Amino acid sequence: MKDYWQNYVDGDWVDGGAGRVDVVNPGTGEVLAAQALADEADVDRAVAAAKRVHESGVLPAMRPVERGRLVQAMGRYLLEHADELARLLTLEQGKPLWEAHKEIQGAARYFEYYGNQAETVEGRSIPLGQGYFDFTHYEPYGVSAQIIPWNYPLEMTARSLSAGLATGNACVIKTPELTPLSNYIFAEAAEAVGLPKGAVNILCGWGHQAGAALSGHRHVNQIVFTGSVKTGIAIATAAAANVVPCVLELGGKSAAIVHDDADLEAFENDIRWGIYFNSGQVCSAMSRVIVHESRHDELIGRAEAVAKSLSVGPGIDRGEAGLTMGAMVSEAQRDRAAGMVSDAERQGARVVTGGRKMNIPGAFLEPTVMADVRPEMTIAQEEVFGPVLSVLPFKDEEDAYAIANGTEYGLVGGVFTRDLDRATRAAQKIRAGQVFVNEWFAGGVETPFGGYGKSGYGREKGREALWNYVQTKNVAISIR
Ligand code: NAD
Repeated sequence: MKDYWQNYVDGDWVDGGAGRVDVVNPGTGEVLAAQALADEADVDRAVAAAKRVHESGVLPAMRPVERGRLVQAMGRYLLEHADELARLLTLEQGKPLWEAHKEIQGAARYFEYYGNQAETVEGRSIPLGQGYFDFTHYEPYGVSAQIIPWNYPLEMTARSLSAGLATGNACVIKTPELTPLSNYIFAEAAEAVGLPKGAVNILCGWGHQAGAALSGHRHVNQIVFTGSVKTGIAIATAAAANVVPCVLELGGKSAAIVHDDADLEAFENDIRWGIYFNSGQVCSAMSRVIVHESRHDELIGRAEAVAKSLSVGPGIDRGEAGLTMGAMVSEAQRDRAAGMVSDAERQGARVVTGGRKMNIPGAFLEPTVMADVRPEMTIAQEEVFGPVLSVLPFKDEEDAYAIANGTEYGLVGGVFTRDLDRATRAAQKIRAGQVFVNEWFAGGVETPFGGYGKSGYGREKGREALWNYVQTKNVAISIR
């Protein structure tokens, strides 16, 4: 393990003008390495490099199938280095080693998918009557700025970088301060597959400094942001000032509606993945379960059993897929989540199990189940971003929709029932960008993902995401 990691700007590994930050292993609380921090001048150099690549026309000039093959090769590069990369990701982020492997596979999958899609971005011809020939075609925006959160640093970068490159954009990635190290792989992959210098730039820096400089840069043509609502608003404001589009993938307080006919034994698996995967630090986590009152006590019992079955400890010791959970990303995030549990208790909620910091070094919070949660409580309204499940009872279907839709968010939602009519009604009524029926997280890279309300706008994943990275040009030819 290197003890100092640089940024990657215009094909070179460079120091940062803002010094360094210590990256801490949340599984032990010890410093892992130092990361260079970019300042405004570094951001400026990265954007200038990307702009130069864009203006050279080299990426759009390639036949899309060739560009797509380069993108796919980047994904293969990740898989070839999966073992070392997974260890690094686990050490900086805290997740179990097997979850880190899963994240790398997910990241590689984005390159496979969008590499494939590169040659499907086709325009259409529009009939204007005799005397005209009219068609549309798509051009890349140019410089794509991508600002990444700490919870899935590899998958989130892969998601936007693969689609951005497949459509012919040059990219500048701002990595998260807490988990910047593993993103080095994208620089190596870009070099290994032969992308021109400056097509991919990877730099870490403080959000308020490098992040703000990037999102407000006048030569950035398009922005993709994944992170919190507060930062999303700052970025949308900066984008508006430069009249450039942005995609905002923000938080969520997503709810599963569990009906009286649901298969609760099968639902245990949804609890396991929905709220304890990545220690609940998932924007689309199943952080609320709204259960019919007739099955409430049974569900609480099952959720308690799932939470208690998890073996919690340093991710690096958890290589085998199973009932394990790692550290949260930092002690600050853990303390924030634990504080929200205590506040909820003061407001009248009951901790069924968990809720406390664990008495071992590192950023560990016990897997938690909360009962007696009322819809207006803070814990039912605001994102915990930790392994904390809130359970709320409902009486009738309308009541369930009112609770499910009763937050400012709208990222995903779910319904669990054997009744097709109920499932279909829920799919129509739930105000969210994605609805899962009988399986939380059903879907994949192919399925569009994004929020309603304060969960953001625009869609990543699926074919929808391609249109974030291209602009339509219409060509009208007058035939004389
Ligand atoms: P955050 O908003 O604090 O930071 C995200 C990124 O934005 C970081 O790289 C940060 O440095 C940068 N940033 C911070 N301030 C900035 C500014 N003023 N200008 C430009 N950039 C700035 O979020 P976080 O704490 O890293 O991530 C957790 C949040 O992200 C949660 O709310 C979670 O729900 C959300 N999230 C959403 C998705 C999704 O796809 N919808 C995925 C993962 C995480």
